[in-house]
This record gives sequence, structure tokens and C-alpha cells, in this order.
Amino acid sequence: IIQMKGVVKSFGCFQALHGVDLSVTEGEIVVIIGPSGSGKSTLIRCINQLEEHNGGDIVVDGIAVGKGRRRAAQAEVGMVFQSFNLFPHMTVLRNVALGPVRVRNLSWAEAETRAKRLLARVGLEDHIAKYPGQLSGGQQQRVGIARALAMEPKVLLFDEPTSALDPEMVGEVLDVMQQLAKTGVTMVVVTHEMGFARKVADRVVFMDGGRIVEEGRPDEIFNAPRDPRLRSFLQAVL
Ligand code: ATP
Ligand code: MG
Repeated sequence: IIQMKGVVKSFGCFQALHGVDLSVTEGEIVVIIGPSGSGKSTLIRCINQLEEHNGGDIVVDGIAVGKGRRRAAQAEVGMVFQSFNLFPHMTVLRNVALGPVRVRNLSWAEAETRAKRLLARVGLEDHIAKYPGQLSGGQQQRVGIARALAMEPKVLLFDEPTSALDPEMVGEVLDVMQQLAKTGVTMVVVTHEMGFARKVADRVVFMDGGRIVEEGRPDEIFNAPRDPRLRSFLQAVL
């Protein structure tokens, strides 16, 4: 459902991605790991065109994106951010219902029905009338996940969804993501949670210096890493 070929991204004279090839098939869970500054965020931001790539091709659900073709990608691709990005002046229910009303032309009643169902799925049925500021970080991030799901995206991208959370809240968000992974949603997840990568990923991709250095099944990556950069990365984080 995603095909990236030779994708290059520069910021001024700095090249953040040096020709990345990555394909993701429908229903696949791909986890991206790698040191800070290796281009993980840039890579997934190119998939939904929060950043426009400068070279190579990105095809999402059969449509080439880039060069003015942002909307196609953004309608089919949902994103969950490290910093939640909820609207503070809107209730939880409105936060989740807003996208489908704006972008999918649902009525508020239809969108709120959908939002209630999704909020129940992430365990927040008792909190729908609250404002984001009244929730814990873990609860806010679960709202962020419900909000992304409300758009019924074909692909869900996560950029370090748990790294802004207090340690005791990481588990509840990872649990929701793990449940989601079982439902056949296609997910691309940037995370430092190696336990999640090991348990949930179909494929782990290791990036360093703007390149994919190694990829494979979790058991291959964690038990038999080949590239020395991957080995030293794992030694540092495990
Ligand atoms: P982290 O684990 O710290 O989030 P990352 O792997 O997500 O790191 P990116 O955010 O993709 O790394 O950044 C890759 C490189 O591109 C970094 O060197 C960063 O400084 C640079 N970069 C990213 N965004 C911009 C920008 N908007 N302008 C200039 N340079 C950028
Ligand atoms: Mg990042």
C-alpha cells in the first residue's frame, strides 16, 4: 500500500534522506528504529507529505504523492504524534468527530456516533465530555489514536507516540496499539520501545544517517543483527 523508491529529502544543503526504498503491504506492521537524527520522522512525514520529498517516488494506495498531490496522501494516511496535537478548547468527543465532519462530509451526529464507538475502543467511553487538559497524557494519546482512526485511513503512522508520556502511562498506549495491530490496520511506527517492536512488528527497519541500513523480522533484527551500527544501537538501547 506504500511504495517508496529512492526517496531523497533535503533541508537546505543538509540531506536528511539519502535514497530510501521502503514498501509496506496492506495489514503489515512496520516498526522503524534508529538513533536520533537518522531520518525516521522525516521518512514518515514524507509518506503523508507533511514534508515534500525532493527526489524519488512515493506511491500511497496507488497514487503518486508529492508536487501538489498532498491531499491524496493525507486523506488516506492517519498520523499520531508524539505531542498529541489535540485542540484544547474542544471536548474529547469533538476532537475525534471534527476530522470526519471537515474532510469526509459526515454530519455532526454521524461523526459523533463514530467517535463514541472509537473512544470506547480505546477505553475512554467515560471521558468523552472532558477537555484534553483534564486527561492524563496516556488518555490524551489514546484520544489521538481514536482521532486518527475516525478518518478511516488506509495507513496509520505513529511518530514516537509514547515518548512524551510518563513511564507508567506508556503501557496503556502500547496496549491499544497492539490491539489495533491485530485488526488488520496497516501501521508504520517509529518508536524506541523495543519490546513493542519485538512483539508486534511484522518487520523492523533500522535507519542510520538517512538510510535504511538493515531490515528484517524482529527475531532477525534483535537476535542476529548483522550491521555493526545496528549492533551498537541495540547495545545502547537494550
Ligand atoms: P529523533 O529520534 O531525534 O526524533 P529522527 O530520526 O526522527 O530523530 P529526523 O527528525 O527525521 O530524525 O531528522 C533527520 C535530520 O534532519 C536531523 O539531522 C535533523 O536535524 C534534520 N531535520 C529534520 N527536520 C528539519 C527541518 N525542518 N529543517 C532542517 N533540518 C531538519
Ligand atoms: Mg523523530
